[in-house]
Amino acid sequence: MLQPLHPPRVADVPHQRVPARDRDQDAPWHTEAVCRRDEAGLFFAPSKEPTAARLSREEAAKRVCARCPVMVECREHALLQPEPYGVWGGLTAAERRVVLARRRRREVELKKAARGAIAAAG
Ligand code: SF4
Repeated sequence: MLQPLHPPRVADVPHQRVPARDRDQDAPWHTEAVCRRDEAGLFFAPSKEPTAARLSREEAAKRVCARCPVMVECREHALLQPEPYGVWGGLTAAERRVVLARRRRREVELKKAARGAIAAAG
């Protein structure tokens, strides 16, 4: 099975999904990605990967991410898409789902607090 390019080529990312910071620059973050040539196949799981092998591979991918100059941009991209597979910005797909769930809960709490404040003021 063909693995997706990691990170995606700019042409693969819909313009509206590219963070505003990247749209404003001549050199998008993808060009600085340490994993542009993922020859070790660290970032995406092969089919039927045993759990121990997956955990080891993901930790190795995270170590690559930790020294990547565009980790923040990559992570935000993966959260905004959202990217359903692979390690992006130092987070696995499961970890990104947790971050997104926390963000959604926070948004709901903020909206509730704003409605309460408006009701109290009115
Ligand atoms: S943070 Fe990780 S996944 Fe993202 S571009 Fe850098 S090395 Fe690749």
